[in-house]
Amino acid sequence: MRIAFLSSEAVPFAKTGGLGDVAGALPKALAEEGIDVSLIHPLYDTTDRHLLREQVFDNLEVDWLGHRRRVSVWLSEAAGAPAFLIDAPEYFSRGRVYGEGDDHYRFAFFSKAALSLLGRLGQAPDAVHGNDWPCGFAVAWLRAGRAWGGFLARTRTLLSIHNLAYQGLFDANDLWRIGYRHGEEMNVFMSNGAASSLKAGLMTSDAISTVSRRYSFEIQGPEQGHGLDWLLRQRQDRLIGITNGVDYDVWNPATDRHLAAHFSADDLRGKRACKLDLLRRFGLPEELDRPVIATISRLVAQKGYDLIEQAAGQILEAGAFFIALGSGESRYENFLQALKDHAPRRVAVYKGFNEPLAHQIEAGADIFLMPSLYEPCGLNQMYSMRYGTVPVVRATGGLDDTVEQFDPATGEGTGFKFEHYSAQALSDKIREALVWYARPAAWRRIQRNGMRVDNSWQAAARKYVRVYHALFDL
Ligand code: ADP
Repeated sequence: MRIAFLSSEAVPFAKTGGLGDVAGALPKALAEEGIDVSLIHPLYDTTDRHLLREQVFDNLEVDWLGHRRRVSVWLSEAAGAPAFLIDAPEYFSRGRVYGEGDDHYRFAFFSKAALSLLGRLGQAPDAVHGNDWPCGFAVAWLRAGRAWGGFLARTRTLLSIHNLAYQGLFDANDLWRIGYRHGEEMNVFMSNGAASSLKAGLMTSDAISTVSRRYSFEIQGPEQGHGLDWLLRQRQDRLIGITNGVDYDVWNPATDRHLAAHFSADDLRGKRACKLDLLRRFGLPEELDRPVIATISRLVAQKGYDLIEQAAGQILEAGAFFIALGSGESRYENFLQALKDHAPRRVAVYKGFNEPLAHQIEAGADIFLMPSLYEPCGLNQMYSMRYGTVPVVRATGGLDDTVEQFDPATGEGTGFKFEHYSAQALSDKIREALVWYARPAAWRRIQRNGMRVDNSWQAAARKYVRVYHALFDL
């Protein structure tokens, strides 16, 4: 089985969020399952050039905006599966991955170049596995191409939704220029008067997956369907939820190179050293018995930051430290700054993206907050569990699938979970967690329950392999 895995971000080449982690780990896990998988990815200016092994093409031709455009392609072995990186500086040397006015051109070009590359490599894959709106273009092109026959006529497609809210919307007048010229080809993009590459991909892919079971149902309803629930209901027989895994080569407190000390479920002593290291890094008082409540996320409404803002006073009243790592909307950055100014000996904030610090916070914190409004899968709650940091989460999407509420009667459970999206519900759960934090034997039990959960990619990779095979029975 030969798979071309397309992604706009993948660790170690680029990461802005969960997709980067997933696309960095899943191809590796698929390769371990015997799949002949290649990653295709843009070569950004921010990508570390040391990761590249060699230039494999210096003249890949891409039919683009009415011209023959030539790009070079680099090979890297740094991802655990062969990765081909498309070098087109006018599109990918922008200092960041997304957020440019011409993103639809940038990723349409990426999609087109990826398909040209498959032609150049000479062996059609059994399936193209695209991820999120940037790859919707590739899926739609492949479907259109199938109608005309040709090299990829037998190649099937799977599109994975990592977050339905990001739909790749753009002015429909640009469709013609990008190269979608026939009525039906253009129609699949149309979404409330604009063009959407995600919608086009969802309309034209042979199958659709998303990153947790609960989210696969939630997106079929109007509340979380972001205007596309009708389409997902229509295609529900082609839609499957596969919960993301954790790359334990990267996220493992027993080996993590970013940590001051190592630890595991059998020996938690190193976690205290990590907590001390964390407090020192932020210049907080070295009060090791005081609980550290932490959060790491994009600062957007989706992550429940409104609830954190409303509950912040109660977090401090309960006697905890609060540490936040994140970047995003200025209203939340301003709130964090104000909170820190209000209680500088109890609150620490790092505004920006910092991978080593994310590891250090996971290791040094006691409690991790994820009160998301919605959460396709969520990775940090799974990282937290492995690092003995107990998650407090809202029961939505993948958070509900991966965190089990602690039950004192049985001693089972890996964290604390609330249903209602309200600051009161969040505060109540934090208070409940702190009650158990004050009882060290019970707390260690919860920590160990979480640390022993196996969320490795292997199980998820096997499910994807079954889906790839099923693409040929549809
Ligand atoms: P999403 O994809 O919605 O951002 P996930 O929980 O699936 O959410 O994945 C987020 C990933 O991005 C995690 O690996 C998390 O540690 C990382 N991350 C988010 N914000 C930051 C930041 N400011 N610095 C470092 N890592 C971050």
